[in-house]
Amino acid sequence: MTRTTPPRPVDIEAVLPALSAHRRTATRLHPRQGVANAEESSVAGPLLWPADEPWPVCTAAHTKGTGHRPADVRLKRRVLAGARGRDFSDEERRILAATGPGRHAPDLGGEPLPLSAVAQLYTRDIPDLVGPEGHDLLQVFWCPFEVHGPDRTIDVVLKWRRSHEVGDVLTDQPEPPVAGREECVPTPCVLHPERVVEHEYLGLLSDALQDDIADWEEGLLDDEENDEDAYDSSAPQSYATYEEYEAAMAGTRAREEYEVDYMGDLSIAPGWKVGGFASWHLTDPAPVDCAACGAPMPPLLTVDKCEWDGGSSSWLPLEDRDSADDPVVIDPVGVYLGRGLMRIHTCPVDPTHRHRLSFQ
Ligand SMILES: [Zn+2]
Ligand SMILES: [Zn+2]
Repeated sequence: MTRTTPPRPVDIEAVLPALSAHRRTATRLHPRQGVANAEESSVAGPLLWPADEPWPVCTAAHTKGTGHRPADVRLKRRVLAGARGRDFSDEERRILAATGPGRHAPDLGGEPLPLSAVAQLYTRDIPDLVGPEGHDLLQVFWCPFEVHGPDRTIDVVLKWRRSHEVGDVLTDQPEPPVAGREECVPTPCVLHPERVVEHEYLGLLSDALQDDIADWEEGLLDDEENDEDAYDSSAPQSYATYEEYEAAMAGTRAREEYEVDYMGDLSIAPGWKVGGFASWHLTDPAPVDCAACGAPMPPLLTVDKCEWDGGSSSWLPLEDRDSADDPVVIDPVGVYLGRGLMRIHTCPVDPTHRHRLSFQ
């Protein structure tokens, strides 16, 4: 099934034409749980990985005595999702107790740890995926111990390929026997890429444009107050029939549609995506420049803790309206890095320059 982001509630470039200079496309990946094949874009594999090529490993010391087996993490997630809205069965209780932290952490014995296959993205599916000339496939890995990369951040490894050069595909694909934290283990997902338009993070626009946006938002609030004056607040709070209730709710929904704001609806799409802009809602904006050539690096892949925040988000795809509160649909991948968001930035001048990460 495809995923369709509703049109933005306002054509903001018609209101503020100067914003057209701060537009970028992004491809929302719309991961949903399921297993793809190696010829498809996916989260958590299987990858189009050559049978005769070594799997990437982390060579840092993984001496930690506790952790989580990825298979246990996935089993626990299945149990929690399956029991939604009811009590656990005895069997489910047994599984949850047995898959708790530290229960089965194997001794890693100082061996290099195979990295987790995190994502595989084909440029044919994802128009905003731009890599080195002639490469059409990006494979993303990380070490699920979070702190083995530069500056004690997560160690992320990118592999760009020409997919037609891959012959026999590795059938038994390695995965780390243990993860430092459950939220570093991605649940396998299929992707439903969809291109959307974004506008630059508010705090990075000129002061004049920020003022224009604030004035415009204030104008919307004034309109809304006028509407509420017209609303009959003496309306009954209990309803004789379902039809009455529906009519009242429809009125409420119509008013809610006025609660549009730049940051929430017109700027940056939530969820896993390729391209687009970086949001700096938790920290001040920080430059992410290429260490090799100094070019500002836009985000290539954004890894988000959820696909939208709450059921009323205007970014909720039409196809998911009936499952807007389902945790498995809101957070299909189960990954939580930083304070919810990790971005992999690549160099626009030369994508083979070393990537950088940013977190929110
Ligand atoms: Zn590691
Ligand atoms: Zn560079």
